[in-house]
Amino acid sequence: MPDAPDDGPYGLYIHTPFCETKCGYCDFYSVAMKDRDTAPVVSAIIAELRSRVDEFGGPVRTIFLGGGTPTVLPTSELSRLLDLVEDCVDVGSLEEFTVEANPATVDDPTAKTLVDHGVTRVSMGAQSFFADELATLERLHTPDDIAPSVETLRRNGIKNINLDLIFGIPGQTAKRWTESLQRAIELNVEHVACYGLTYEPATRLTAQRNAGTVIPCDEDIETDMFVQTREILAEAGFVRYEISNFAKPAFECKHNLIYWRNEPYIGVGPSAAGCVGRRRYKNISDINGYVRRVAEGGRAEAESEELSRDMLILEIILMQLRLVEGISVASFQARLGESPFSVFGDTPFRLVEQGLVEKSDTRIALTESGMLVANAVMANLAAASGHVERSLPIIPQ
Ligand code: SF4
Repeated sequence: MPDAPDDGPYGLYIHTPFCETKCGYCDFYSVAMKDRDTAPVVSAIIAELRSRVDEFGGPVRTIFLGGGTPTVLPTSELSRLLDLVEDCVDVGSLEEFTVEANPATVDDPTAKTLVDHGVTRVSMGAQSFFADELATLERLHTPDDIAPSVETLRRNGIKNINLDLIFGIPGQTAKRWTESLQRAIELNVEHVACYGLTYEPATRLTAQRNAGTVIPCDEDIETDMFVQTREILAEAGFVRYEISNFAKPAFECKHNLIYWRNEPYIGVGPSAAGCVGRRRYKNISDINGYVRRVAEGGRAEAESEELSRDMLILEIILMQLRLVEGISVASFQARLGESPFSVFGDTPFRLVEQGLVEKSDTRIALTESGMLVANAVMANLAAASGHVERSLPIIPQ
């Protein structure tokens, strides 16, 4: 089996694990700031970053500073982290440098700090333009915080802004979802990411649903919202390039495209993951353990594995099929030394007949209908390759 590229260029993800408070639906690894001293964690992230960048050597294409909410760090700590990034990476030659932020966490000094350190893109967790929906999600900001935060970023020179929005919030109607989309469009941002609300295990929102105090959005309404999203954003000049992501031309998120195309990336910080060549790792999701293990001079990995052929095929299905461009036949062949058509047999043909997949000599991609049942299509392809992904539903033959 041919080897995957492992000498860069690669994407760099940096995870800062602090938020002002913990939102009820969130299962990302982050802790509430309260009176925490963030300095030891930032120092450990810096130490890991130096060592990982030295180890991998190749040029960095993109950086994504996420979390958590990086912009809740004290400005001095954020500057210290960004100074070190500039020290380790040729920031001027990056294709993209994204920082995640939340509305009401971006003031002029913070925005200026980002721009001064080479940040080119900000991804903001707007989520909804309705106060009661934000309250259901336990978000701290209000709808009135969103536009001023976008204006602050613009005033300081950020030319590429994404807004994250969530549909399927309990109590949300299709009309309200449309209004949230329109409010985002009016802010003239370059990119919008629209995710259906998921009930992750061990979150407060899931506990509320299980207790009956929160009633999930009706599935048919959620499907309508999904369909409306593309229509409304297309009218405003946004092109869907991934199931949940829409961009004005040339503003696709280059960093996330690295993940979806199964290209190499490294991750630093608590809970961050990386995958270079066939080696995939994930750091521990525990601030104190992370700081201790990095200080001892080692890695803070919770797990690390060599991807087998079957695991790599599953990764390609789960990631590349999310893209409108779909699975690249050439890239599949280069990574595995086999054609996807020989691996998947007649399953793609059957999925084409069902209107769920379209295929050519170069691509296998979901249709619009296929996107509505993406997990099931992925499960069918996984099963065809001999990998049974039991958590995914199979479409009957
Ligand atoms: S702000 Fe984002 S990362 Fe932080 S708790 Fe809320 S959803 Fe999670």
